[in-house]
Amino acid sequence: MSINRVADLGDLRGKRVLVRSDLNVPLDGSTITDDGRIRASAPTIKQLSDAGARVIVMAHLGRPKGAPDPAYSLAPVAARLSELVGSAVAFATDTVGDSAQATVAGLSDGDVALLENVRFNPGETSKDDAERGAFADQLAAFGDAFVSDGFGVVHRKQASVYDVAQRLPHAMGGLVAAEIDVLRRLTVDPERPYVVVLGGSKVSDKLAVIDNLLGKADKLLVGGGMVFTFLAAQGHGVGKSLLENDQLGTCREYLKRAADSGVEIVLPTDIVVDTAFPSGDRTPQPTVVSASAIPDDCLGLDIGPDSSAAFAAALTGARTVFWNGPMGVFEVDAFAAGTRAVAEALTKVDGLSVVGGGDSAAAVRQLGFADDQFGHISTGGGASLEYLEGKELPGIDVLDD
Ligand code: ADP
Ligand code: MG
Repeated sequence: MSINRVADLGDLRGKRVLVRSDLNVPLDGSTITDDGRIRASAPTIKQLSDAGARVIVMAHLGRPKGAPDPAYSLAPVAARLSELVGSAVAFATDTVGDSAQATVAGLSDGDVALLENVRFNPGETSKDDAERGAFADQLAAFGDAFVSDGFGVVHRKQASVYDVAQRLPHAMGGLVAAEIDVLRRLTVDPERPYVVVLGGSKVSDKLAVIDNLLGKADKLLVGGGMVFTFLAAQGHGVGKSLLENDQLGTCREYLKRAADSGVEIVLPTDIVVDTAFPSGDRTPQPTVVSASAIPDDCLGLDIGPDSSAAFAAALTGARTVFWNGPMGVFEVDAFAAGTRAVAEALTKVDGLSVVGGGDSAAAVRQLGFADDQFGHISTGGGASLEYLEGKELPGIDVLDD
């Protein structure tokens, strides 16, 4: 693979550089509740600005329906980006209309502008190449070069990610480069022992990753909501826990394949249950039960203390770890201990430790861990997973000359 870096674009002074960033942060009204993605995106934007470029940032927020929707405006993001870059960020109130044109025309060398949510234009996510291409033409007209730095969207064949890259000299930003480097170390010749920890809500979301990593990892630890389909596949009752009946056969096959190939699948031996899913006014009543004796009227909401200790022990001495998916309903303190234990164990790994997935990254921050306690926290859940499934990423392939 031969992909340009920003330095390969030559002298950027006075050049208009379009950057695709991932600024898709959670909002509560207009308050940003986790600015991790803006912080991760700021260095490349600042690097371009410091080089004298006129920087035009493209990004999306949420899933508006191809039309302007104030609930998904990037205006609050522009304000925070400005603080993090350390200079004013001009905000265009549309994507390619009058405001965007005036904003771009008004840039001086080193200035930064942010266009309004690109998903306000139906061309951004259109499946029709011509409709996407027409929007990409309008975006590309703003720039002399394109830098792809939104790792969270590189698995999407979308106008500001894919089609713009076809229309301008292009390079990958430092964020995308770092993500690709880490993902390569997880898939090509990983240092051993290599332990993969999977959790989260659904097995079906993660099947292809399990499939691909079963052939590479030495151990696979399974927790979270997906564990109950594995326990059921072993013949255990799981009460009212999350269960995907249509995946039982696949889970059984994975257990068999792992046994045949010497990969150790570690399942929890105890589970924290309650009689109802946590909700607003109800006080949680966590109870620890054996994983082989989950009462019919209960549902599993976290791995138990013995399992937490076993998972931590299984991570001791690992040289490569990939973790995706919380071990329990970490949003509620009574069911956060398993996730905390795994996070804690990852901080002690002497080697490469990677946290992937939006909720997993939010979990470690919410539980009070600092980003630098881990080798790498991936900003792009879906993109990392697709790479780890062995799929091609259109937004990366398009940069390869
Ligand atoms: P990520 O975004 O890191 O890939 P997922 O989206 O797959 O993770 O899963 C995160 C969600 O899984 C969290 O909201 C968490 O509450 C939920 N979860 C974890 N364990 C359970 C469980 N036992 N039952 C139901 N939901 C669970
Ligand atoms: Mg998620």
